[in-house]
Formats: sequence, structure tokens, C-alpha cells
Amino acid sequence: MRVAIIGAGPAGSALAILLVREGAQVTLFDDGRRPELLVGESLIPAVIPIFKRLGIEDTMATCGRLKPGVSFVWSESERFSFTFARFAPAVPPYAYNIARPQFDEAVRARAVAAGVQHVIARARLGPAGTGSAELALDAETLAAAPTLGDRQPDFIVDATGRGRLAAGALRIPARVGPRNDVAHFAHFEDFKWDDVPGQVLISRLKAGWSWGIPLKERLSVGIVLGRDDAAGLGATPLERLERAIAIDPWLTSMVGAAKRVTSVATYSNYQLISERGAGPGWVAIGDAFGFVDPMLSPGVFLALRSAEVVADAVAPFLRRRATPSPDELYAALRPYAAMQQRMLAAWLDLVAHFYDGRMLALMRSGRNWIDEGPSAFKSAAQNHIERHIALQASGVGTTSRYSRALLRILARYGMRGVTSAEMAIH
Ligand SMILES: Cc1cc2nc3c(=O)[nH]c(=O)nc-3n(C[C@H](O)[C@H](O)[C@H](O)COP(=O)(O)OP(=O)(O)OC[C@H]3O[C@@H](n4cnc5c(N)ncnc54)[C@H](O)[C@@H]3O)c2cc1C
Repeated sequence: MRVAIIGAGPAGSALAILLVREGAQVTLFDDGRRPELLVGESLIPAVIPIFKRLGIEDTMATCGRLKPGVSFVWSESERFSFTFARFAPAVPPYAYNIARPQFDEAVRARAVAAGVQHVIARARLGPAGTGSAELALDAETLAAAPTLGDRQPDFIVDATGRGRLAAGALRIPARVGPRNDVAHFAHFEDFKWDDVPGQVLISRLKAGWSWGIPLKERLSVGIVLGRDDAAGLGATPLERLERAIAIDPWLTSMVGAAKRVTSVATYSNYQLISERGAGPGWVAIGDAFGFVDPMLSPGVFLALRSAEVVADAVAPFLRRRATPSPDELYAALRPYAAMQQRMLAAWLDLVAHFYDGRMLALMRSGRNWIDEGPSAFKSAAQNHIERHIALQASGVGTTSRYSRALLRILARYGMRGVTSAEMAIH
């Protein structure tokens, strides 16, 4: 099977590795963009088994830092800290924080070493016009990849991230998420740290929230807030980030005196889910299918997991040395497309619990309940609840019906006087 994968981010390179191992002839188009900063720096524990399968966990030694857990800093006096190890073995006991450009480079190099044809070219797609395939590479793109021998590939994979190349060519609309935030971030050195090494910090700001992601030697600091609130902080991304740090006492204490060592990068309009992520002869993976929100860091996991599921759907053809028709491929990929929609919807629902305050209200309520008079029953109940929240937020069980129902019921009936509004992000 001749496969063209467009986009050499985590999704594209991971799929390339898995398919070439099964005997596919894989061409990986890479537009050669190498920005200084890329988001996707904090990972969740569910990436660990995928790293092991891809054989890339050793690259973490060069571009990653162990992430033991996450702390939610909701006010100067209120912090909720979690370590993944507490929920092992149901949840892998750790994750990583990564410098994305180096990580992408390492996974791409692994794909090339595995036998993938790497083509530096900005690929273009259009409707196929003839046959049952829905999409085709344009003539220039085809010519850039001599290994395709001037013949259209049997299978086209859109891994172009927010470029959504296939959706653009086929005019497939995207559902837009409820938030219309903008994110600004930069890397700092010589910062002050008051938490466990490697722990990711999510803090609530007067408007929006901030991230603190400890990388190998640097700290990535980002702010995420509504467009009007961002405009109120300043005209440029740098002014906004500096002002957000200056007016928040906790951020000031951490990075007020630190040295900024990169420019300030900006992202916006990222809550997008394609209404269709597959068709005859093609599929979209990673952000090209959809992305929900950065707060809980699911993006790279969703990219890698989608690569894994697509590889498993296509592997039976490769093992039989059969070249499926575009319609046969579509039939094999429909369950993946349905699963990815469910996954994205579940993440969107989970993250909504953080924005509207239900999740943190529940945590405060649980803490109050234990403080009122600890008992073995209360500890067991609290452990059970936190385990199911961890299963969802770690990526291991985000779509679990039981975990989701438990959270929904508790958020409705388990607040014990704490209102979600007081814990919401504005
Ligand atoms: C503000 C913000 C913060 C985030 N923080 C996190 C986080 O902490 N943790 C996390 O896991 N996720 C995070 N994410 C999400 C994460 O960055 C993405 O989900 C992840 O990068 C998706 O990987 P991908 O491979 O699908 O796409 P990408 O990483 O976008 O890769 C796509 C690749 O395709 C290439 N490309 C595009 N068009 C073409 C073309 N026509 N031809 C050839 N190549 C092309 C691009 O150059 C790029 O290399 C964040 C997102 C945002 C917006």
C-alpha cells in the first residue's frame, strides 16, 4: 500500500512509523516549518504506552523532563495538587514535559530511520475528480515525491494540524468550541519554583488562566484568556504577557524577576472539531481532525492515539498484502472516526467542568468534607472519586461511561454548599 502522510508533527510521524513497520510504502510530506516555540509541551500519562510502542521513550532523555503531576493554583491560599503515581497502576505513574521542536525532530528522525520517505514540500490537495477516491495530491506535490512514481497514493492522511488541509479541500465545516480565547507564551530562565520538580502548574488569573510548564532547563509560561481581556492587557503579545505577570502576585513571585529567553508566541481559534474526519481513500488525524482546549494538555496524546488507531485499522490489509479500494479503506476507518468524535466530545465536556468551576468546587467540597471529621469511609469515597477523575484527565479513561456519569452526578449533587461560580475561570 502506498501511503502519503501530509504533516510531520507528532500525529504524522507516529503514523508513519507504525505503517512502515507493517510494510506500507510511506511518503511523509513536511513543510519544513521550524518555529522557535511550539505548543504541546505538557503531556498526559496516557502517552507513555504509545511512546513504548513507538520505541521513542528514550528520546525523552534529550528533549523531555519527567512530569510527576499537576497542581491547580486557584488563589494565593488554595492549591490542589495531584501526582499520577497515586493512581498507578490504573494510570501510568508519570508523563513528560517536552520541548516540542526537539520532540518533533526526534520522532521524525525515528520515522526516517524506520524507512519512511521524507519529502520537504508544502503539500496541496484537491478533490480527486475521477475514481472513487475523494482526494488527490496536486501535480506539483506528486512531482515532489519521486517514490510515488507519478501515481496517486492508495491512501492519503491529513496530519497538517490546524491547517486542516483535507477539510479545506473538501469544504468540510468545523464545529467551533464555546471559548474564543487567545494564548500568549514564552520561555524563561532563572525563575523561582515552589512546587515539586517537573510538576505542571495551572493557575487561575483575574481573567483567564496561566500555565507553568517546567522543561529541562526552562520554564514555559503562558496565559490563556478572552480576546477583550487580552486586549485590555496591552497591544502586543509581549505587553500582554508582561502585564499579566506583573498584576498577578503568584506569577510575579515565580517569573517577575526571571529572564525571558524567547520571543512571545500567540495562538488563537483553536477549539475546532471537523464534522467529518475520513472519507473514501483518506483520513484526518491529530489536530487536523480536531482540538479542544489546552488546559488539560490532551493534544499530543490525541494526535498519537489517533495515529495508533488508524494504524491498527489499516494493518489487516497490510498483513494480507492487499491494497484496499478507497471505499474499503473508508469502511475500515469509520469506527476510528466515530471514536475520535467521542473522544473529542468527552475532553470538551471534561474541560468545561474546569472552566465553569464545577471541578474545583467539587475538590474544595471534598476537602471540606474530610476536614470536618476524617473517617475511613470518607477517605475511601474520596479516593474513589479522585481515581475516576484521574482516569479521565490522564487520558486513560476519558470516554469511560461510569467515570463520566460519576462526575456529572457529583457536580450536580455533591457540592455541599460550595458554588461552582466561586471557582469558575472568568
Ligand atoms: C495554546 C495551546 C496550548 C497547547 N498546549 C498543549 C499541551 O500542553 N500539551 C498537549 O499535548 N497539547 C497542547 N496543545 C495542542 C497540541 O499542540 C496539538 O494538539 C498537537 O501539536 C497536534 O499534533 P499534530 O501532529 O496533529 O499537529 P501539528 O503539531 O500542528 O503538526 C502538523 C505538522 O504539519 C505541517 N504541515 C502543515 N501543513 C502542511 C502542508 N501543507 N504540507 C506539509 N506539511 C504541513 C506543520 O508544519 C506541522 O509540522 C496546545 C494547543 C494550543 C493551541
